[in-house]
Amino acid sequence: MYHNYAEVVVNAPLDKTLHYKVPDTLVPELRIGSRVRVPLGHRLVNGYCVGFPDAPVAMELKEIKEVLDHQPLLGEKMLRLTREIARYYRCTWGEAMEAALPAAVKGERKSARGGALQTLKALRLTKDRVLILEALEGLRKKAPRQARALEVLLESNNGIPLKELSRQSGCNLGGLNSLSSKGLVEIYEQPECRDRPSGLSISESQRPKPELTSEQGQALSLIKTQFSLCRGDRPVAPTVLLQGVTGSGKTEVYLRAIEEVLALGRGAIVLVPEISLTPQAIERYGGRFGNIIAVLHSHLTGAERYDQWQAIRGGKARVVIGARSAVFAPVENLGLIVVDEEHEVTYKQETSPRYHAREVALMRAREEGAVVILGSATPSLETYFNALMGRYQRAILSQRIGQRPLPRVEIVDMKEGFHEGRHTRLISRRLELYMKECLSKGEQALLFLNRRGFSPFVSCPRCGYVLRCKRCDIPLTYHKRQHSTICHYCFYEVKPQENCPECAGARLNYFGLGTERIEEEMGRYFPGYKALRMDSDSMKGRNAHAKALKSFERGEVQILVGTQMIAKGLDLPNVTLVGVISADTILNLPDFRAVERTFQLLAQVAGRAGRGPKGGRVVVQTFNPRQYAILAAAAHDYEGFADRELEYRRELGYPPFGYMARIVLVGQKEERVKDRAQKLAEALRQVASIPGGLLTKVTTPGVEVVGPAPAPIPRIKNQFRWQLSLRSPHSEAIKELLEGIPGGTTGGVRITIDIDPYSML
Ligand code: ADP
Ligand code: ZN
Repeated sequence: MYHNYAEVVVNAPLDKTLHYKVPDTLVPELRIGSRVRVPLGHRLVNGYCVGFPDAPVAMELKEIKEVLDHQPLLGEKMLRLTREIARYYRCTWGEAMEAALPAAVKGERKSARGGALQTLKALRLTKDRVLILEALEGLRKKAPRQARALEVLLESNNGIPLKELSRQSGCNLGGLNSLSSKGLVEIYEQPECRDRPSGLSISESQRPKPELTSEQGQALSLIKTQFSLCRGDRPVAPTVLLQGVTGSGKTEVYLRAIEEVLALGRGAIVLVPEISLTPQAIERYGGRFGNIIAVLHSHLTGAERYDQWQAIRGGKARVVIGARSAVFAPVENLGLIVVDEEHEVTYKQETSPRYHAREVALMRAREEGAVVILGSATPSLETYFNALMGRYQRAILSQRIGQRPLPRVEIVDMKEGFHEGRHTRLISRRLELYMKECLSKGEQALLFLNRRGFSPFVSCPRCGYVLRCKRCDIPLTYHKRQHSTICHYCFYEVKPQENCPECAGARLNYFGLGTERIEEEMGRYFPGYKALRMDSDSMKGRNAHAKALKSFERGEVQILVGTQMIAKGLDLPNVTLVGVISADTILNLPDFRAVERTFQLLAQVAGRAGRGPKGGRVVVQTFNPRQYAILAAAAHDYEGFADRELEYRRELGYPPFGYMARIVLVGQKEERVKDRAQKLAEALRQVASIPGGLLTKVTTPGVEVVGPAPAPIPRIKNQFRWQLSLRSPHSEAIKELLEGIPGGTTGGVRITIDIDPYSML
């Protein structure tokens, strides 16, 4: 076929495709999906060829300059998928394409023709350890970042790619070069191709396959019938909600379903929340499928990601395990997408394109004729509702494996018994008692608190003044170990002060609770036992997470204190007690999903207790002991909670009964932001109220425009934030209404649009 013209999508804020001439020399290699270099204005930019028009739109077209890859990076299905994402989430097609490809893959040029081995610069230690350690001491004061780089190298026992080392240690290129000129390290060329990302060891089928329980068997046969419903090119995505309590063997069902799909000659993608992508979890898939699995997560180096992506596209890897963006993995003949913990909010991307991986999984499955399994102990209300309405099949695993009972959950009212004279207790007497009992038997405890730091509020006991970030208007958190008060949004940092700056005189109160404070106080409450904290402050290094878990597993630490990080996925049989320090941290957020998230989190945390034969117990501390989400979580009653919450959502027209879009306006000058927000709201209201007006395609157009108002976090990094939201029973009506709004920045005010928003702050 001979093409004179090509239709190209460039990654620029353009809503349309552009036409270019194809020079004769490029005709043979240019294909649909090819990445190309094209002139745009006075620049050369990258773009993707998406079609070959018969006639050009204009007479004088510019020429395509270069075709960037031997093989197109995006197949036709992926082109259609990205276009649908662009339409649905209101971004440009180019942006959606960019999101579908890892940076490392786009960075590669075809210059290495014929597949010559790529190399990259890496660093390794030269001298022996003792000499390095001596040098390290000397450097600590003078060049702490260089010292850190040496430490990282010492820990790894291996060479580390330059960029990666710089990222991990914070040491820049100059610093690394200086280490090299001191003769402590050497820079060498490392081949880019490794078989496996580090930290992943594959050892096939050590464990024999368990015999399925009857509930698991039923779930699997339901899934199998779905496979027979979809044959290649039919645009259906039969979807199964696998609703199973924690420890009920959902993963085993995924594994069997994957076996099935492989036997059909097709591939699979398993999406998991980043946080539960632990070596433990990956090993389960590796143990079953060996080296045909690929892993994609954010801790991979660019080179590792590149290798994984190529292994998938080349067909070597047929099963992909990964976080959110793995939904775009180039698996040929995809037959199954599993979305594990489908209720997790981390599936929503919070930068453009603001897609939700579960929704994209469904779109992609329709494109590929694949089956989708949505797994959760606490399905999102959207998914649960779809199952109730018969749009999804539902399989239930009601029992834990081995008939282990779910742990007993006790609620403690924080309004009572937390004060002893002037002293405020951190944990209730009941929790203290249970902890003593648990620890003295050689068992382990988890303490959960959804708040980092030592003290989330620094306030004045006399005038009520709260220390806030100058740029973000949110309370600063005191971190004791760093002796610093830090903003969790912009990392603004000030040294703590003793006295109130407002009423001068009174001493500031560093009260309140954070994980760091709990960790510290545990030493006082339970002398002789060790506590360890796991949160994003204490777990910064690449393997910190795995190391901490190992020391807990080995029993060197008896009390694990943490945030979300410990709520999920851990399967530790010696944990017999879980304490929730405060169930109210999420409940009080200004977000219509706050109640749902509280229920989910409590259920998840409780699921960490009693996974072994010794059973388990959970204590939930709260100021709202009668709140229905807390009561339902304590009773392990998902349906009870979900039905009540659905009623509430129905009354207020929230999802899943209505659709939402959130518009956030951000800018330096508050007056301008406010003014734009008001004008925008006015304009939207006017259009929305025209009966049958612009909204011709929709029969009942009703779109409600809510706001404008300052966002719950009214200022971040000195930028003022206003918001408004659109609600309607019809998703199309919202989209039509939004069509007139230009995104991007004008007059110093940036407008972002979030379809199906999750973050309300
Ligand atoms: P979930 O994903 O629902 O939390 P898992 O799949 O992690 O549950 O299963 C919990 C534990 O039970 C795991 O250690 C798993 O190996 C084991 N298991 C799963 N299915 C079976 C089975 N049919 N027979 C015996 N053990 C099983
Ligand atoms: Zn701040």
